[in-house]
Amino acid sequence: MEAREIVVIGGSANGSRAAREAAFYGADVLVLEEHPRIGIPEHCSGLFSYQGLAEIDAFPPDEAILNAEIYGARLFSPRGTEITVRKSTTHALVADRAKFDKFVSKLATMEGAEVRTSSKVISVKRSGNEWTVHVLDRKENSEYKIRAKGIIDAEGFRGAIAQQMGFAPYPQDSIINAAQYYIKGIEGIDPQLVEVYQTAEFAPAFFGWLIPINKDTAKVGLGTSKKHAGIQLQKMLKNYEPLKGRLENSETYYRIAGKIPIQGPRKRTVTNGAILVGDVAGQTKPTTGGGVIIGGVAAKIAGEVMAKAVKENDLGSKRLSEYERRWKKKLWSNLRAMRWVRKYLNGLSNKRIEELFQTLSKPRIQRIIEDVGDVDNQSPIIWKMLIQPSLFGFYFKTSPQAIRAIL
Ligand SMILES: Cc1cc2nc3c(=O)[nH]c(=O)nc-3n(C[C@H](O)[C@H](O)[C@H](O)COP(=O)(O)OP(=O)(O)OC[C@H]3O[C@@H](n4cnc5c(N)ncnc54)[C@H](O)[C@@H]3O)c2cc1C
Repeated sequence: MEAREIVVIGGSANGSRAAREAAFYGADVLVLEEHPRIGIPEHCSGLFSYQGLAEIDAFPPDEAILNAEIYGARLFSPRGTEITVRKSTTHALVADRAKFDKFVSKLATMEGAEVRTSSKVISVKRSGNEWTVHVLDRKENSEYKIRAKGIIDAEGFRGAIAQQMGFAPYPQDSIINAAQYYIKGIEGIDPQLVEVYQTAEFAPAFFGWLIPINKDTAKVGLGTSKKHAGIQLQKMLKNYEPLKGRLENSETYYRIAGKIPIQGPRKRTVTNGAILVGDVAGQTKPTTGGGVIIGGVAAKIAGEVMAKAVKENDLGSKRLSEYERRWKKKLWSNLRAMRWVRKYLNGLSNKRIEELFQTLSKPRIQRIIEDVGDVDNQSPIIWKMLIQPSLFGFYFKTSPQAIRAIL
């Protein structure tokens, strides 16, 4: 039977990032990806901050960048009231996510990892100090087994393999359904600003977005607690005030769908011989759903810790808990604050959201958002907003929702 030091399940952004790091630290790494092509099917808007990309050391090449200049956002209330937040410098880019994944995967192979596509992990079983990984080769339609000392599980939100390892299922009611269309011929796009639609009517429990590719083409999507995100998106495109009249001569040329875990991270992300990374570990931002930077930060730690543990021949959960300690130190409080904001916002009525927009549109508050706002590290802006006297009245009125969000 083939024997490897580390098997990574899932060859998307976070699996590849973990594989690259583990290979860098000298481990023998095999990535198993069930689909024939890395990055396909695509399931992302590809909006990444420059700072975040630097942190995960994965700045994409030109051919993977669709728009390098995002300066801020136009935020729209349920009725269409607008607040514009524009930073003085570009702080995010829009990537072609499929090409980005291929690029991150290539970096892993350049570091020495092997990537095997059309290879679905059917089951994993631990006996003694090693795993037996049961793989379906979809090209050959045959099955085989691999022995592995350690597993990095980056299989995404489903978590089927994580459950076989003894992890609890991720709460299904905290998984948002998302749909996104690539549309050209949209009027009124500012290519430097993303649009964010806070509309419980079309995107209950989450929000809608427009991510500009250029001045007339964008990725337009939404996340929703409703089952059929595609239907919600069509309704939003047709009926939501900020989009009305802008799509009359447009053409939709590509559609994608996906799921986003927004409950926040799992507390337990290691077991004997295995580590969870990325969406399967709930490492996404509950406010925006972004999981490539946050997951990538955790993936780097996972790869390093697992590779060192293999060299020390100690893959017990105690040794691997270094991963948990380190990613929690970096991300936990930030993700918990975002989780609170998501629950708080979801508890507010449209009337209250309109009131909130009125307050946020005050020049002083807008300046604070422009100065302190950061799509990845959201704790500073959350704390800053909590101590703004002009928002105290609003907090008082919505204190029941604020308390429910904490509980
Ligand atoms: C519509 C939408 C828009 C988004 N926009 C953004 C954004 O702009 N910015 C951002 O940062 N994040 C965004 N996200 C979130 C982001 O896409 C995820 O957080 C990210 O893809 C998680 O990466 P991952 O590697 O953990 O998991 P995934 O990307 O889900 O990858 C899991 C991989 O594992 C493979 N796999 C699963 N099971 C097996 C198995 N048994 N055997 C072998 N392979 C397996 C899958 O095929 C897949 O390739 C968005 C999500 C959605 C749905």
